[in-house]
Amino acid sequence: MNATPLADLSADDLATLLDEQRAAYEELKTRGLKLDLTRGKPSAQQLDLADDLLRLPTSTRDSKGVDVRNYGGLEGLADLREMFAELLWVDPEQVVAGGSSSLTMMRDCLFYLTLFGAVDSERPWGQEEKVRFVCPVPGYDRHFTLLESLGIEMVTVPMHEDGPDVDAVTALVADDPSIKGMWIVPTYANPSGSIVSQDVAARLAAMPTAAPDFKIFWDNAYALHHLTEDEAKSADILTLASAAGHPHRPIMFASTSKITFAGAGVAFLAASTDNVAWYLGHLGNGSIGPDKVNHLRHVEFFGDAQGVRDHMARHREIIAPKFAEVDRVLTERLGGRGVATWNTPTGGYFVNLDVVPGTASRVVELAKAVGVALTPAGSSFPYRQDPEDTNIRLAPTMPPVEEVTAAMDAVATCVLLAAAEKAAG
Ligand code: PLP
Repeated sequence: MNATPLADLSADDLATLLDEQRAAYEELKTRGLKLDLTRGKPSAQQLDLADDLLRLPTSTRDSKGVDVRNYGGLEGLADLREMFAELLWVDPEQVVAGGSSSLTMMRDCLFYLTLFGAVDSERPWGQEEKVRFVCPVPGYDRHFTLLESLGIEMVTVPMHEDGPDVDAVTALVADDPSIKGMWIVPTYANPSGSIVSQDVAARLAAMPTAAPDFKIFWDNAYALHHLTEDEAKSADILTLASAAGHPHRPIMFASTSKITFAGAGVAFLAASTDNVAWYLGHLGNGSIGPDKVNHLRHVEFFGDAQGVRDHMARHREIIAPKFAEVDRVLTERLGGRGVATWNTPTGGYFVNLDVVPGTASRVVELAKAVGVALTPAGSSFPYRQDPEDTNIRLAPTMPPVEEVTAAMDAVATCVLLAAAEKAAG
């Protein structure tokens, strides 16, 4: 295969390449593809791993004798909190086991902050003239739409391999009291696959902020979702923040959505005990207790924290080959062409593909027209605005591996065609 970078091709060779890719694209149209790489959902095969949950719990009481069928225990079942405290490297009393969605917990926290303020706020955020959040990009689209729905302004900083650009963050938060918080997906970030280093975490925990009630929304959705045996350990943000004199700064979130059942698992919040009391105080006005039957079901299913780790290894066996396939096809088709870069994540659910600036929307449009659904260009940026129009999020977990191959082959053709079109003017 000719892998000359597009920029080095003569006008004639570029015209030939454009013709070749147009022909390849016409051929794609005849394939009748119907493939979807849009959302990071587990595949049916992954969900099957947790089917025993459907026959649990066998007991009505937990190890402490709590009858899970009754009201109460707003903080969640102790056995489950202990299990996930170990997995998230926090103390059990810092953990709340809640409903089935961590995103809902994040939204509730933002509502409470807006309506009532934090334990360290001077007034409710809703009474501030302006509230702004630092958003590392590319990032998780639902984080951004949630802020947008509340009128919280978003300020972007670049996401690097070791986490958000910490110099940019510290500079932003130092002088501007309207900057009240930031998002971070610390482990195998959506979609960059980045892992926040110990050093970056320590600096974020310790940095001076103009807002006294600055919050880090530490969304550890992929804490346990390793794609290799080299398992990243998330930085211990609660201890770091506490040691730096900012114990109430981080609020951690996690869930079993991509461990057991997506939308029918258990979500967790972890924070300082004051923050936990704050959260439960507000939650208690609208809930008498969580679904402890589901909590017990999860306790019985896993047995202990090691049971969760073993379960995640089975997920890895199913999805790692799909990620390998994305890399193989992209390398084979686009390697050396100078038309795209992508990451090879060691965990999480996404591959981050950067195409020739100004062509991401065109690639997504071309792919759609041949039956390959990709996440809309710009989705990983606040207000859906990718200033460079370069970023595409690929989510390969859900389709079977042969569909991943077919989809990536089609995507590669679309990337090359869009790049050749642009280069040819
Ligand atoms: N946080 C991140 C970073 C995610 O990628 C997702 C789902 O894709 C969620 C949260 C949603 O989690 P939950 O199902 O617990 O609401």
